[in-house]
Amino acid sequence: MREGAELHRDAVVLDAHCDTLYAIMEGQREDLGPSDIGHVDVPRLRAGGVDVQFFACWIPSEYKPDRGLKAALKLLDIAHLELERREDILLILSRADVDRARAEGKVGVLLSIEGGEAVEDDLAYLRTLYRLGVRSICLTWNQRNLLADGVAEAETGGGLTNLGREVVREMNRLGMIVDVSHLSEAGFWDVLEVSSHPVIASHSNARAVCPHPRNLSDDQIRALAQAGGVMGMNFSRLFVDPKRHTLERVLDHIDHVVELVGPEHVGLGSDFDGIDETPEGLEDVSRMGNITAGLLARGYDEESVRLILGGNFLRVMERVMG
Ligand SMILES: [Zn+2]
Repeated sequence: MREGAELHRDAVVLDAHCDTLYAIMEGQREDLGPSDIGHVDVPRLRAGGVDVQFFACWIPSEYKPDRGLKAALKLLDIAHLELERREDILLILSRADVDRARAEGKVGVLLSIEGGEAVEDDLAYLRTLYRLGVRSICLTWNQRNLLADGVAEAETGGGLTNLGREVVREMNRLGMIVDVSHLSEAGFWDVLEVSSHPVIASHSNARAVCPHPRNLSDDQIRALAQAGGVMGMNFSRLFVDPKRHTLERVLDHIDHVVELVGPEHVGLGSDFDGIDETPEGLEDVSRMGNITAGLLARGYDEESVRLILGGNFLRVMERVMG
């Protein structure tokens, strides 16, 4: 048996980002059933011991700037059809639903949105998305939208707009997790100032290990941690290391965050089905157990491994969603 297999099975394992819904919308995949393409399906989630998967509704460029809500609704429809058809998945609306899913032997599905375009210009749409089960929103993708500047707009120095500030406050009130991955650096600092709840960077790594603007600087990591937040490790070659796209290099990112702020602020945010290449040793979501084995081999204690696998994100979910 692989080292740590029992611990991996017993721990709550949470992956804070995948793009599988978009792959289904694009017709690359039929549904969440068994598939030999892509990285995430329900059998592989189970094989990987994943208890909670965040399913992002990524807003495609052709729906921007003004049809973001339509794209989100189409993606949410795909997710809800799957939730209606399948007995082995459960919609996660609160922290307690995670325990329910585990007790029933189901994979928890947390619905998130990647791109504030879905909110368009109206808090009524934000509340409607909440009622449809959305519990986390990445305020931007790489571009500028009505809420904030994305990371590709960094030269302007722009952060949150007035509407973006209102959206963050309303998300705090509703119990939705604010996600700062893809946000411009100025936007990141604005969110930390405005948000009364911890925030997450669902799929961003450490810039000190791999210098890419999508990764967080040490100052950002310290501030995120100070605010009680968590960052999920992304498995994309670009953000792990263009030269060493391996499980070990992903673990180097975890080591760096842990050295900086302790084991309470790092988790997993694979970006599976949103990336073309996967790291050696993390070929798809069924391989998540290798993270546990790798952390134990590096001398992490059991409690730290549990926090990194999912405990940290659960803490934020409980705090924000209740
Ligand atoms: Zn992304």
